[in-house]
Amino acid sequence: MKKTIGIDLGTTNSVAAIKKVHTEVIKNSEGEQITPSCVTVRKKAMRAPEFIVGRNALEWLQQEPENTITAVKRLMGRNFNDSEVQELIAGHGLRYKITSHSKGSTNSLAIHAAGKEFTPDEISSKILEKIKNDAEATLGDEVDTAVITVPAYFNDKQKHRTRTAAALAGLKVSRLLPEPTAAAISFGVDTVSGDEGCTVLVFDFGGGTLDLSILTISGGQIIEMGKGGDMWLGGEDIDSLIIDHVLAETAREEEIDDIHSLIENQELSRKNRFLAELKSSVEKSKIALSDRTETFIEIFGLLLDEDGDAFDIEVELKREQFDAMLAPMLASMVRLVRDVISGVHFTDDLIDNILLVGGSSRIPAVIKALQDEFGEKKVLLHDRPMLAIAEGAAILSHRLGDVVECPGCGGEVAREKDICPHCGFDVDAHMVDKGLIDIVHTVAHDYYITLENDERFLLVEKNTPLPCSSTEVFQLINVEQELVHMKFHNVVNDKEESIGDLWLGIDDTDVLDEVEKIPQLEITLSIDENNLVSVEASLLEYPSVGISGTLSRGKADEKLFLSLEQSINDANKKGYDEFVVIDLLRRTRSILHTIRGVVDSVTGEVDESLYKQAEAKITKAVIIAESGETTYTKIYYAEAMIDSYGMLISPALKTRISKRIETLRNVDDDGSYDQTIKEQQKLADILNEPDLDWVHLLMTIEKAVEICHKTDKIKAAQFGSAIDKLIHLLMKGEESVAMEELLQKTMPEVNKVLDAQDRAGMEIHTDLRK
Ligand code: ADP
Ligand code: MG
Repeated sequence: MKKTIGIDLGTTNSVAAIKKVHTEVIKNSEGEQITPSCVTVRKKAMRAPEFIVGRNALEWLQQEPENTITAVKRLMGRNFNDSEVQELIAGHGLRYKITSHSKGSTNSLAIHAAGKEFTPDEISSKILEKIKNDAEATLGDEVDTAVITVPAYFNDKQKHRTRTAAALAGLKVSRLLPEPTAAAISFGVDTVSGDEGCTVLVFDFGGGTLDLSILTISGGQIIEMGKGGDMWLGGEDIDSLIIDHVLAETAREEEIDDIHSLIENQELSRKNRFLAELKSSVEKSKIALSDRTETFIEIFGLLLDEDGDAFDIEVELKREQFDAMLAPMLASMVRLVRDVISGVHFTDDLIDNILLVGGSSRIPAVIKALQDEFGEKKVLLHDRPMLAIAEGAAILSHRLGDVVECPGCGGEVAREKDICPHCGFDVDAHMVDKGLIDIVHTVAHDYYITLENDERFLLVEKNTPLPCSSTEVFQLINVEQELVHMKFHNVVNDKEESIGDLWLGIDDTDVLDEVEKIPQLEITLSIDENNLVSVEASLLEYPSVGISGTLSRGKADEKLFLSLEQSINDANKKGYDEFVVIDLLRRTRSILHTIRGVVDSVTGEVDESLYKQAEAKITKAVIIAESGETTYTKIYYAEAMIDSYGMLISPALKTRISKRIETLRNVDDDGSYDQTIKEQQKLADILNEPDLDWVHLLMTIEKAVEICHKTDKIKAAQFGSAIDKLIHLLMKGEESVAMEELLQKTMPEVNKVLDAQDRAGMEIHTDLRK
């Protein structure tokens, strides 16, 4: 039977667990419970690169730091320009290179390793792949589904990317579970029954982050009340403190003025080996100090002094020294805990327990600082702090599984059944008794849409229970608007984080031709249990009008959307005339259709050929607008001629025109600019044939009718009847005096109307207003 497991996809370490009767951590192929979240990419001649994951990748960190990716979780769903990413580049010793992705917008992100670009999702998927493969080997069964844990503060995009990573690894995600909820489940606090209720503060102190969450468990639900912590405080920072201490001690003993430049000046491979050795030795000592009162950091014969002689590093570290070193960090840690509690307007007595998970929670000084502040009884350290999150995920994955074990007879019961078919046991009632309860997830952040003039409109408020959806009606800016560009964002820690852009093309503008009132657009933003956002839109009064769009997610499609936006902004600046704008709008709709297929919405894979197509279409649209050599206005004109005055055109000529239109359309879609211009000319040549002179004249008068329709109804009627009379006379087949007179009377008027017409630029609107 296919298995479903729980996975803690951590910044530093990842863990997999499964619940059968008891919850068990699944050992990896190295026989270890913990898999370092570390990936080395190795170049292979003539072959795809090889990925080494986990403990073995940590070994490679020494030799190939530039090809070894640690802490990829920090980059998930992030933009290159995000302050977090820039901070990481600036000050946190990142050894591999990151840039914006050559295929994505400037907002995308690429990790460089072994001469290739990877998205964080791709790297993360390699960790998941190893976990899946190792679990299958250990369990002797296929593993196809998992509950994967994510930080409570992950926004939609970060969650989406986690799902993408899972899809790339061939794993179905039955739930993305917030880490604090997983911790609470593994402590068993979710099984408090009835109306007792309890409130806990989950304190997750890992390798890179301190994550704090307050959860209330009551009436079969877990509700997240608030969260906080520090994205940049974890075991790594503690290691850095010890490293500083070790280097300072060594410099003192060996009388070295500037030990940092001494290390910098070592030959590269020696330097890398030394730094890796130092880091691992320091971490080992730190871990040892959790159980002992003193330890040594020793590195023999790696570092060379100014004379090129090797010297040893031997530094003793006592528990008291370590505690003193930690004191400022512990003070700010306690402050952060105080901040979350006051953030939800709680007092200490409302917090039943502080639950400690994460490897750094093992440090005695950390436990003591919390006990001193909140009382010994309140503070509970998990028996297996580094495995707790995975265990919680495994418990949930078991609950979500399709079958449950009947507590009465041990038989299998389908999950949707209340009563055991084998023994009649009331499984449903028992589950509630045993605390097999619903987890209520809430929206982690406020969701906004950007309107005209950069105004923000709140669509979904933080802490709304999931799933939820919000429907609002907005107005287009202009009656003739054919494009809508919607931008959605979260607000996280007072900063806006883009969730994605949605471009709508209103496909069927003919229906709207007669409309005088500005159309209204109804937008529904839905967020599912996994915090995944989807958007739907329809024109309120014209549900039949086709509307289509997808949410971009900062990938290749976003780069295309951005250059499309740029070309529209440029067009508005240049103030192109109506013909150019109409042509550009038609092109834009076709470009939107192409872009939609570029990124696979599940795996995030980019269709290279569609990407190139879309790029070429945008470039062509820009050139055509600049040259004014529009295709679609010519096609529309030719089609209108046949539609309105076909009876005056010979069938043979009509067929020739239709064929030319067809060819021009195809060439415009697939051909180059030059080919398009050539085809345009061929159509123009046919339209210039003398047989069509009269039809052009009628089209001119009709244009005047169209203009007068809005300004001068009497004149419009006059012109209209002139057209009718002319057609009547032309059908009789001979040019007469009556026709001459009619033209002499009408044409000067018509020309006056056309001359007076405002040829000022036409703007392309893409905004919405409330
Ligand atoms: P993450 O959630 O970031 O993946 P973990 O919860 O696995 O991280 O914790 C990893 C961190 O815990 C590392 O910095 C490691 O050095 C530290 N750690 C592990 N065990 C101990 C220990 N016994 N004492 C102190 N720190 C520890
Ligand atoms: Mg963790």
